[in-house]
Amino acid sequence: MPVVTRQVTDLLGDLVRIDSVAPRYEPRGGGEAAIAAFIAGWLADAGAEVELADTEPGRPNVLATLRGTGGGPTLCLRAHTDTVGYRGWSRDALTPRIVGDHLYGLGAADGKAGCAAAMLTLLALARSGVRPRGDLLVACVADEEGIAAGTTALAERGGIDAAIVVEPQRTDEIVVEHQGFGWLDVVTRGIPAHGSAADDGVDAIVHLAEVITRIHRLDRSVFHRFPSLNNGRTVCHTGMVSGGTDYSSYPDLARVGLEVGIQPGERLADRIAEIEEIFAEVAQSEPGFDGQVVVRLDREPFVASGHQALQDAAAGAIAAVLGREPTITGATGWTGAAILQRAGIPTVLLGSAGGRFHAPEEWASISDLARLCEILTRTALAYLGG
Ligand SMILES: [Zn+2]
Repeated sequence: MPVVTRQVTDLLGDLVRIDSVAPRYEPRGGGEAAIAAFIAGWLADAGAEVELADTEPGRPNVLATLRGTGGGPTLCLRAHTDTVGYRGWSRDALTPRIVGDHLYGLGAADGKAGCAAAMLTLLALARSGVRPRGDLLVACVADEEGIAAGTTALAERGGIDAAIVVEPQRTDEIVVEHQGFGWLDVVTRGIPAHGSAADDGVDAIVHLAEVITRIHRLDRSVFHRFPSLNNGRTVCHTGMVSGGTDYSSYPDLARVGLEVGIQPGERLADRIAEIEEIFAEVAQSEPGFDGQVVVRLDREPFVASGHQALQDAAAGAIAAVLGREPTITGATGWTGAAILQRAGIPTVLLGSAGGRFHAPEEWASISDLARLCEILTRTALAYLGG
């Protein structure tokens, strides 16, 4: 039964209206409890067995199972309920606005379109009149925009034979690998001194500036490699910077927070080695240079494995719905797929179009989301033995 555009628009609009800003982004953000309660009620009405599992107090995962006849595998559709904050929106970010095929609103694409797709897939399966052997598990998880505690808890729960992570992407693509990333602090230490005592002071901020300039050069040159991934570019940018205490003193400490990508086949240690090479270079021209890298977060890349049966099911579904063969490809952004695959769960990514993620006027394509629902329904039926 094809999912109609009206159904998609209504459900996605309902989800956008519920504030699920992660507390990390806005202390007064709604968090995941209210949206989890809405999704849980909706999926129970659709015929699923529903469970709310807290990842930390008040931040639950929704786990909804549509039982098959037995003896088949369990396929998980994983979406996420949390969003980033409303900073920069010139109008109410939580009031959905529809212009043509686009639904605008905070989290419309990342990740409420994924939640809507997973929910409507379960409903379509429940109403299809076909009962597959295997179970469909819809997991709308918390904290994907934070430390992915929801996906980690899902992976630890077990009982999943294969997973589809639903995130914004082209509907005709099956993503089987993506970058990992690291959050690094680069710290330089100088020697504090009175501002008039140039011979005594070592300027930690100037030294950090030298390092940042060279990292930026690395980004503009060698990080444009890896054509196997969608746009081939290794993530590398500064996130925040601090240092010094006052106008009148040489600063003894400066720090920049960086986000750096890790391509499939690489490790965070490769990025750290590059930065340490930069330290050695800067030390040659800057006497007293002292640099250090501190790892804040290390997320390995995602490389699918054991996923052929799932990929075949998805490829057949995409060909049937879109009338063309899918592209098997890689992506730039990190998702919880890396965590599920690391736990031994064969995983691929499917999704629908959207744009302006983590920015004002984020949008999701309504027609594409309807097509994704149909692709997921057909994939589930084929994989679960319909
Ligand atoms: Zn996001």
